[in-house]
Amino acid sequence: MVKELTIVLEPVSASNEKEIRNAALKKLRVKDGDITAIRIKRRSIDARRKDIKINLSLVVYMGETPPPLYDPVIFPDVSRARRSAVVVGFGPAGIFAALTLLENGIRPIVLERGVDVHQRLRDCAMLCQSGTLNPESNYAFGEGGAGAFSDGKLYTRSVKRGDVKKVLALLVQHGADESILFDSHPHIGSDRLPYIIERIRETIISHGGEVNFSKRVVRLLGTQEETTGVECSDGSVYNGPVILATGHSAKDIYYSLSASGYALEAKSTAAGVRLEHKQGLIDSIQYHSSGKRSPYLPPASYSFVTQVKGRGVYSFCMCPGGVIVPAASEEGHQVVNGMSPHSRGGRWANSGMIVELRKEELDSTDPFSMLRLIEGIERSCYNPGFAAPAQRMDDFIADRESSSFPDTSYSRPLVSKRMEEVLPPVIVSSLREGFLAFDRMTKSRFITSDALLIAPETRTSSPVRILRDSSMRQGLGLYPAGEGAGYAGGIVSAAIDGTEAALRLGGDYD
Ligand SMILES: Cc1cc2nc3c(=O)[nH]c(=O)nc-3n(C[C@H](O)[C@H](O)[C@H](O)COP(=O)(O)OP(=O)(O)OC[C@H]3O[C@@H](n4cnc5c(N)ncnc54)[C@H](O)[C@@H]3O)c2cc1C
Repeated sequence: MVKELTIVLEPVSASNEKEIRNAALKKLRVKDGDITAIRIKRRSIDARRKDIKINLSLVVYMGETPPPLYDPVIFPDVSRARRSAVVVGFGPAGIFAALTLLENGIRPIVLERGVDVHQRLRDCAMLCQSGTLNPESNYAFGEGGAGAFSDGKLYTRSVKRGDVKKVLALLVQHGADESILFDSHPHIGSDRLPYIIERIRETIISHGGEVNFSKRVVRLLGTQEETTGVECSDGSVYNGPVILATGHSAKDIYYSLSASGYALEAKSTAAGVRLEHKQGLIDSIQYHSSGKRSPYLPPASYSFVTQVKGRGVYSFCMCPGGVIVPAASEEGHQVVNGMSPHSRGGRWANSGMIVELRKEELDSTDPFSMLRLIEGIERSCYNPGFAAPAQRMDDFIADRESSSFPDTSYSRPLVSKRMEEVLPPVIVSSLREGFLAFDRMTKSRFITSDALLIAPETRTSSPVRILRDSSMRQGLGLYPAGEGAGYAGGIVSAAIDGTEAALRLGGDYD
């Protein structure tokens, strides 16, 4: 017999298998020997009150062996497959497109402009330490895409739960912790993601697919009516239908597509700053305590949203226990982003604090109008060596320059600026009003002199969309996918979009 039930426990009890079992026995009124196994189906924290609880949805097996947690995908060997397809970009969309092609017997030929994830780790470390940027290997470009050194939050608002489950199961199959299958806000961590990505690459290659590094695609072959392959910067040519999953930092691809007559349009996005607090303060706000966080609770996160004069202002991609990184992919542009390791054990909590930017407010006939706005912000924030414009939070509210800074996780220097000097007025005024609203929501604890604004957060989603029809194609043979194409935002939604593009391609070329 299988029974499903929900129990509510203190954090300390919820971390103890025996106590979970005892709670299940009590609720079901059965004897210990009756239960063969207990599975956690969902785990979430209820921190609405001081007395914090953990909600656990359990599946209890009595006299039955539980089925496997997930069904591993058995990949066929495609080394001699009749059909192949080109996948451009090996971020979440390209990775999952390649795995899906493989699963369906189509040989994936992956072309990635950057290098393998371990060399990339060294390039990112160099950028953080010395401010020297490798334009082909950084936090945006290289194996794993922008997802590789992300926080690895796998939470998505996608309603396609079946697809989400499959993405998470494939990550577990390649080494991710099983808890991502049941945590309400699953998270992998920037220290663990590279090994998972490497194992996925091994799966693709060992089953007959290709993953080629330092292959920057410069143009599509054929016409916008029928794409027949791609050409790389080294002159090499790859023929076949193309899944284009190049992410939103690959501006060269947008310009190349536009020059060849492919259809693009401007897309609404959001931009602002990274805001960094001490993790202890966020813990005390969210867990309603003044002392240290209980060791049985994870570092707290927050999610804020408000409207300022009809414009959305919200927190984005919060990284508890994380660091702020220089995330630009080209010289002359300043971009920051956040990541955190699996433990989320760092002293700081950072989050994007962003303001909605609507395409309707710009030239609607120009596909690059939003991209230009974003580029303008990045340029005005740039300083050599990726020194970042920064301002204390209370100084930002009072509109005065900061004369000193609290200690920060950002490894490059900070340059004292009033945000007015580097960001558009609409972002500054909306953020100021938004922060005041968030402060009210937290009983005046959010705005503090010890918190820091670091600018700018601009790569939140694509400022350009590559048009596609209901079959996910533009013409024949081109499947724009993932965040860069403008159809996803975040690791899981990009992975789902890449998966769907590969399924459509498989159907079209049957
Ligand atoms: C620091 C950081 C932290 C983040 N944290 C999170 C998080 O915790 N959770 C979350 O959901 N999202 C997070 N994100 C966002 C997430 O990483 C992206 O939404 C996701 O990676 C988009 O996937 P994608 O495959 O569409 O594009 P990308 O990940 O951008 O991948 C595109 C790939 O294409 C390659 N490429 C580009 N141009 C070419 C070309 N011309 N030829 C060949 N290859 C090319 C690039 O090198 C790259 O590998 C974070 C992003 C960053 C930068």
